[in-house]
Amino acid sequence: MPAPAGRGAAGAVEGRPVLELGDIRVTVLNDGFQRLDGGAMFGVVPKPLWERRIAPDERNRIRLALRCLLLEGPGGPVLVDTGIGSKEQARDSRFCDIYGVEREGGLLAELDALGLAPEDVRLVVNTHLHFDHCGGNTRLGPDGSVVPTFPNARYVVVRGEWQDAMAPSERNRASYLRDNFVPPQQAGLLDLVAPGSVLSPGVQFVHAPGHTRFHQCVRIDGGAGTALFCADLVPTASHIPYPYIMAYDLYPMETLGTKKSLLPEAAGEGWRIVLEHEPENPVGRLQPEERGGFGWVPEA
Ligand SMILES: [Zn+2]
Repeated sequence: MPAPAGRGAAGAVEGRPVLELGDIRVTVLNDGFQRLDGGAMFGVVPKPLWERRIAPDERNRIRLALRCLLLEGPGGPVLVDTGIGSKEQARDSRFCDIYGVEREGGLLAELDALGLAPEDVRLVVNTHLHFDHCGGNTRLGPDGSVVPTFPNARYVVVRGEWQDAMAPSERNRASYLRDNFVPPQQAGLLDLVAPGSVLSPGVQFVHAPGHTRFHQCVRIDGGAGTALFCADLVPTASHIPYPYIMAYDLYPMETLGTKKSLLPEAAGEGWRIVLEHEPENPVGRLQPEERGGFGWVPEA
């Protein structure tokens, strides 16, 4: 089990990595864990290979973290992705069983441990609108209605991702739950932007198509270092090798192309990498390997 969130030294949450990038301080929070089918997580890679990297449970699922970034800097408190949220725990035990949802305090408890209330958040950025990335955008109000969790924030999504989420196909309908993203729009809090947009000073979307057509990574540059939040381009450290691409990806050859352009840039520039679903150490660097591709050098 993860260590419970508690107030640590210098405004940190125990067990949660902090990256000091100059003007921007990044805290890697965790909304909890989910379990997804190991075969779906590794696409065409045979189980004898992937199970050496992450062992599946008795239902063939692997345990994945639900990491979110808190950015503290000139743009005020910014959240990048919001995990799976608390709504389904309160109302859908079947969902929680299928996806192995494990949450104790979740994102809000970790913010609280840092002295931040939901009302303090200025900006909520979603890399894409699958339920495990934007579930915490909204929560159940006292009367059971679904309301925006962060009433004073602007919520930012790429326009094409929004359009795809609002008109899903049979293949991705189960991933797009409208309660996660429509209430902020109805409350007038939603901003739709172009791929690659600057989100706040030093914070920028990086167009990273493949998982979905308009899936974005987020690059943070505080003047004294750069970090790349990979979202579902590289969900865990086990997905760093080029062919390790999820079966969930709608456009796997585009994922491959995005990995082949972005990972060498990240390694060459010495960017720190944050992996959204990595269950162990989510922060590290990419190290070029002799036979091509990259190894993972986690920061303990
Ligand atoms: Zn996704």
